[in-house]
Amino acid sequence: MTAAPPRTILRAASLFDGETHRPASAGPTDVVVEGGRIVAVEPASAETRADVEVAFLMPGLVEAHAHIFLDGAELDFAVRTDYLKADAETMVATARANVARTAAAGVTLVRDAGDRYGINDRIRGELAADPAAPLRLRSPGLGVKRPKRYGGFMARDIGEGVDPSATIEAMVEEADDVKVILTGIIDFEAGGVKGAPQFSAAELATIVEVTRRAGKRTFAHCSGLDGLEVAVEAGIDSIEHGFFMTRAILEVMAEKGIAWVPTFSPVHFQWARPELAGWSATTIDNLRRILDGHLEHVGLADRLGVNLVAGSDAGSPGVPHGTGLVDEIFHFLDAGLSMTAALTSATSRPRRLWACEGGRIAPGEPAELVAFDASPFDVPAALRGAVTRIAR
Ligand SMILES: [Zn+2]
Repeated sequence: MTAAPPRTILRAASLFDGETHRPASAGPTDVVVEGGRIVAVEPASAETRADVEVAFLMPGLVEAHAHIFLDGAELDFAVRTDYLKADAETMVATARANVARTAAAGVTLVRDAGDRYGINDRIRGELAADPAAPLRLRSPGLGVKRPKRYGGFMARDIGEGVDPSATIEAMVEEADDVKVILTGIIDFEAGGVKGAPQFSAAELATIVEVTRRAGKRTFAHCSGLDGLEVAVEAGIDSIEHGFFMTRAILEVMAEKGIAWVPTFSPVHFQWARPELAGWSATTIDNLRRILDGHLEHVGLADRLGVNLVAGSDAGSPGVPHGTGLVDEIFHFLDAGLSMTAALTSATSRPRRLWACEGGRIAPGEPAELVAFDASPFDVPAALRGAVTRIAR
């Protein structure tokens, strides 16, 4: 005879269940957990004694865009360049520290966005093998790009004009998601994206189709109108960054269900600390204009019903792991999203889009929960405060 799994009653003064907010005025809620799963969610009764009482309970956060091998807190460009020549053990140590920081912010699931050294795959394996690991990592391994184009630190080349099918078929065996480097990065001094997209709409559609055949999803590094047009025409699953967005592109994204991970944080950092890169007054103006356009379009995306997902590009200069994701939630609030919409984009929505369980406080779901000392619906800054991890 086996013993019954331990049963824990969590009593939350208020909670966000992944989709809706139950305020303290509605009375406390008991979340009953058995064997790591939620078995009941019910109004607290005076007869039952809670094992744990918390002020505010919600599902663990999801960081949808991070480079786990890069230290975002490292601001010295020379040190960052040298780091790319470091040995694997140094990078693994950095990645483990990044996992700890990410977990400390209340994150329980991370989607890595590519690294050419395979540290992401190695960390994914370490975490998967440890039942007590604080989070799980999805890894794309390397992304794909065209030769001599942007993305060398995170992607492999598919020769110019070569059909991507064979490369993608090999990649999807190991990759949780397929990352495509579709465009270059933003040229802040010029205030635009340089160069044509790395793949045509037909080539990208092939990548999407081969990936879907394996039951997996694509996400594309993409900014600028030329790249955005290619991405939506090919029906990519998720657009990452998406600077220089337009209403017309957002309308197609809403219609096709294409997700958007707008990653405000790396550009916001360049604007907030222009002295580090030595940006001129003109460039600082460009950065502000880019951010204002992004705020406007993220607000519009929310109103149009686009699948907004929070991801910070942690590991980029000035974007530390963990706190970067929380900053991204605040950028969503600045764009006009409600707290409910912002938290949905960082809990239940990415998990639903990636067909992962969890992200909701409901019977049958894994008890991957985090608690805060106050409700962010009352005090948004509570999200930056102490986090109590209930399970994983
Ligand atoms: Zn990235």
